[in-house]
Amino acid sequence: MTTTEILDIEKIRADFPILDQSINGKKLVYFDNAATTQKPTAVIEAIAHYYNFDNANIHRGIHTLAERATRDFEASREAVRDFLGASSTEEIIFTSGTTQGINLVASTFGRKFIKEGDEIIVSGMEHHSNIVPWQMLCEEKGAILKVIPVTDLGELDLDAYEKLLSEKVKLVTLNHVSNSLGTINPVKQIIAMAHEYGAKVLIDGAQATSHFKIDVQDLDADFYAFSAHKLYGPTGMGALYGKKDLLNAMPPYMGGGEMIKEVSFEKTTYNELPYKFEAGTPNIADVVALKTALAYSDSLGRENIAAYEDMLLAYATEKLSEIQGLRIIGQAEKKVSVVSFVIDGIHHQDIGVLLDNQGIAVRTGHHCTQPLMKRFNLLGTSRASFAVYNTTEEIDRLVAGLHRVRKMLL
Ligand code: PLP
Repeated sequence: MTTTEILDIEKIRADFPILDQSINGKKLVYFDNAATTQKPTAVIEAIAHYYNFDNANIHRGIHTLAERATRDFEASREAVRDFLGASSTEEIIFTSGTTQGINLVASTFGRKFIKEGDEIIVSGMEHHSNIVPWQMLCEEKGAILKVIPVTDLGELDLDAYEKLLSEKVKLVTLNHVSNSLGTINPVKQIIAMAHEYGAKVLIDGAQATSHFKIDVQDLDADFYAFSAHKLYGPTGMGALYGKKDLLNAMPPYMGGGEMIKEVSFEKTTYNELPYKFEAGTPNIADVVALKTALAYSDSLGRENIAAYEDMLLAYATEKLSEIQGLRIIGQAEKKVSVVSFVIDGIHHQDIGVLLDNQGIAVRTGHHCTQPLMKRFNLLGTSRASFAVYNTTEEIDRLVAGLHRVRKMLL
């Protein structure tokens, strides 16, 4: 059976009401999934259900609503633990997203374990959110940032990486999947290499989680951060996995309610994991809805989703390559369903505007990866990124749309 037979795409599309609308008089084609995916009705209803029936602050209340809200909040933590393959819910910290997860590690691991002269390695294909926190930390501590170079195909140069490793390296941090190129990085191997030198590894999983199941124990990742909104869940929330021993050894991130055991003006003691890192009232409704988003992907089958998206990627790569003057940036052997491209003589912004006129949403610009764009001597690209509700017919619309753009501008 083919993936189109296994997955009923029309039925899946009906789960995403936003897709059923016209933009500029044309049926919407949404190809900006790497920026954020759309949300199925089940997720939208989970948020509404929480506010309609269960809304209360968690953990401290003894009344029924507080107990229900707490139960659902913690059930979501268990769902995330299962999704990431972590051994304990103590290792799952809710955050506002990948960016906060990375900043948490930079602030607390960095404060405790990074000192002058230490080295931190990032990759040359990082999102700004996995560059800037480390630059800030290096500046504060007098540590040194090193960069794994990117090859012409858009893969990491592992020989160069090996040469960067030494006992001075305290942390290696990189994305599992590049948001700009779609490259799937060999993070298991990269982690094993770092561990030989005693360095810890943080994986930015923002782009990986919507495409395949994660197993942090198999990867042996020390930290793994992701955002719910990239995998059919709500915006402004996500989670950070950290190995228990490491999290226990790190100081808290923010101070406030929930993260304390006892407060006095003489001495405050901190709560146990994971609450030590969760100061203040969290984004309860969206945490609860993340469980629904994970269940939604599960119900389709993550392997089915991956196989279907691989088919879309192969189809789009072939069809787009036939357009005269179009160059795909990032041709790694292992990719998720992201195609970044430039067309000779046409500015990416013009492509974005003219496609939008035809109802087609793509992302244009540097995709928060300016150093990577510089590596390819570009200011930006156009990026089409596909999710499980996209179709080959929509890719045909993109191709036809690009032909129209060429005709108008060249
Ligand atoms: N890392 C990567 C690879 C991303 O693609 C993104 C978002 O596009 C982020 C980090 C930041 O995610 P968020 O804005 O949800 O914190």
